[in-house]
Amino acid sequence: MLTFYQQAFEKLKLSPAQSWPESTYFRAPYKPFMLLAVSDLIATGTITHNFIEYSDLLLETFDRYWQMLFDSTKLANPIQPFFYLRSEGFWHLQAQPGMEQRLAATTDIKTIGQLKQLVVGAKLDQALFDLLQQPFAREQLRQSLIQPYFMRELQPALATIGQMNTAIFSYADLLVEHSQRTFREIPAIDTPYLVEVRSSAFRRVVVPNYDYCCAICGIRIITPEGRSAVEAAHIIPWSKSYNDDPRNGVSLCGLHHWLFDQGLLTITPNYQIQISRLVAEQPAANQAVLMFAQQPIQLPQQKQLYPNQIALDWHNQHVYRR
Ligand SMILES: [Zn+2]
Repeated sequence: MLTFYQQAFEKLKLSPAQSWPESTYFRAPYKPFMLLAVSDLIATGTITHNFIEYSDLLLETFDRYWQMLFDSTKLANPIQPFFYLRSEGFWHLQAQPGMEQRLAATTDIKTIGQLKQLVVGAKLDQALFDLLQQPFAREQLRQSLIQPYFMRELQPALATIGQMNTAIFSYADLLVEHSQRTFREIPAIDTPYLVEVRSSAFRRVVVPNYDYCCAICGIRIITPEGRSAVEAAHIIPWSKSYNDDPRNGVSLCGLHHWLFDQGLLTITPNYQIQISRLVAEQPAANQAVLMFAQQPIQLPQQKQLYPNQIALDWHNQHVYRR
C-alpha cells in the first residue's frame, strides 16, 4: 500500500507555467504543499481522525511552506489545492448536507465563503490516512511530495519547515499548559526555540481566544482565503519578560498594536482602554483612536485567559506615556 500511495504522490497533476520558479520545475507547488501541511497536522496529533477541515491551522501550516519559496511577495490561495486535490483519487471532499450535486457540478472554488457553503471538509483514502499516522511511512510519503517537485537545493529547507511546524505545535501546547499555572512577573518561559516558532505559537494561542478580533476596536477582517488581520501583542515585551504566557498577550489590529507598543495606548488592570494625551493633543483626525478612551476592551470568553493584571500594571507603569 505504501508504494501505491508513493506513486500516487509522485504523479500529482500540477499546472505548468513559466511564471512558476525553476526550482519547482515551472509547475504550481500548491498540491505538494497542501499535502505536506496535512502530513504535519497528522504528525503533531492535530488531525487525529480521517477528516481534514479547511482550518486556520491548515492555512498557517501551508503558508509556512509557501513563504519559504515566495516570502511575502506572492500570496497563495490554499483553497484551490484543497478543492482540486479531489481529482487525485485519494482526496474526497465531503459535501455539506444537501449540497452533493452542486459540489459535483462545481468546477472552481476561490473563497472561503464558497468553500464552506459546499464543503465540510475532506477525507483521505483510509489506507493513506493510516499510513500517514505511522512515522516511517509518513517520512517516505513526504519524500514523494518533495523529490519530484522541488529541485535538490530546496529540499533541506522543506525538511526544516516540517520540523518548524512540529516545533510550533509543541511550543503552543507548552504555552497553553503555562496559562493554567500562576503567572510570574519574572521570566517565565525560557526557550531555545527560534523567534519564528515562538511568535507563531504565541499568536496561535492568543488570537483565537479573542475570536480573531482586535481587543480595542473589535475589528475582525478575514481575507477570502481565510487569513485574519489581527496580531498577538506581548503586554510586557518579550525582550523584557521572556514570557510567552498567553496571559501576557492580547489580540490587536496593526494600528492598535503599534499604539500599544509605543505607549500611546494602554489597558488598565480593570480592562479599560486609556489613550495617552499625546494622541489627544494632536489634530482631530485622531478621533478614530480617541473614541475608544475609557471603553472596556473585548475580553476572551474564558476568564482564565484574560490579560494578566501584573502584566497590564507593568505596561501602565513602564510603557504607557500618560
Ligand atoms: Zn484595533
